[in-house]
Amino acid sequence: MIRLKDRPITPKKLGLPAAKRAKKKLHDLIARSERPKEKDFNSSVWGDKRVKSSLHKFHKGKCCYCERKRDNGAEIDVEHYRPKGEIKEVSKIGYWWLAYEWTNLFMACKKCNGAKLSKFPLLANGVRALKPSSPLNKENPLFPNPENEEVENLFWWRFDPELKMAILLPQDERAFRIIKELDLNSPNLVKQRGSILEGLIDIARSMDKAFIMRQEVEHWSERIFEETKPDNEFASMRRCFFIDRGFRSQVCKD
Ligand SMILES: [Zn+2]
Repeated sequence: MIRLKDRPITPKKLGLPAAKRAKKKLHDLIARSERPKEKDFNSSVWGDKRVKSSLHKFHKGKCCYCERKRDNGAEIDVEHYRPKGEIKEVSKIGYWWLAYEWTNLFMACKKCNGAKLSKFPLLANGVRALKPSSPLNKENPLFPNPENEEVENLFWWRFDPELKMAILLPQDERAFRIIKELDLNSPNLVKQRGSILEGLIDIARSMDKAFIMRQEVEHWSERIFEETKPDNEFASMRRCFFIDRGFRSQVCKD
């Protein structure tokens, strides 16, 4: 997971009459004390091509949770950070008023979205927002908002180059639960991340050598910087790898 920066401006689609009608429909249902069901949400609003491509750009083409690269248009889910339809832990009514809210929309792969679904547990002292007037900043959610939190600080990594495995490690109890709930150490993910280790090790060795020989230091510094830019797949893992090897100052901080 890596912090997402520079959210693009709200796509036009979310302010068009169709979106306004969709929002009004939900308000009307709630006013009649009815529970909005799946069919009462208009997925063509947030599922619009331009909304998706805006999210794709914002996420640098990666799932906001596992950082796997996703093709625009294929295997992308628009993720409601706060679930719209229901909250698994408490009720059949979710954060319906945030269904079309730009800042509640992210991009996730089907696997992560499937793991999260309607889960939105709060940590101790969190006060659940159950209506539009409730403050969201009192909730203290388990899941980090990838835009508002330094998510990289929650985790560390263990690398096993021989077995080609990269395992995400929790820094605390909360991070432990996040890894478990989102299945961020699934065998496939551990393997996919591990498959790039060899290339990183080669660069780190070349950098070590460059320092000793006092040549090509700039070239290899630049390589590490490029490898750790946020648009790379598994950028948070790459950063930790090079920091671990003593190259913190070469790592991209964006
Ligand atoms: Zn994912």
